[in-house]
Amino acid sequence: MALTKPYYSTRDEAPRVYHDRVGCNIGNSIPPEERCYGIHGRSHCRECRELAIEENETAQG
Ligand SMILES: [Zn+2]
Repeated sequence: MALTKPYYSTRDEAPRVYHDRVGCNIGNSIPPEERCYGIHGRSHCRECRELAIEENETAQG
């Protein structure tokens, strides 16, 4: 499982999304000191969602 605790960037100019995938490049580019844990009413990161779909397809294949 490549899931992690949901987190998001505390930067004002960052997209209003949260990340929950270890392999997400967008999430990984957020420095640890700018990460806040939780979802906070944000929508799911597009890349995290695509990773989730890929992993589901891999698991079934
Ligand atoms: Zn993400």
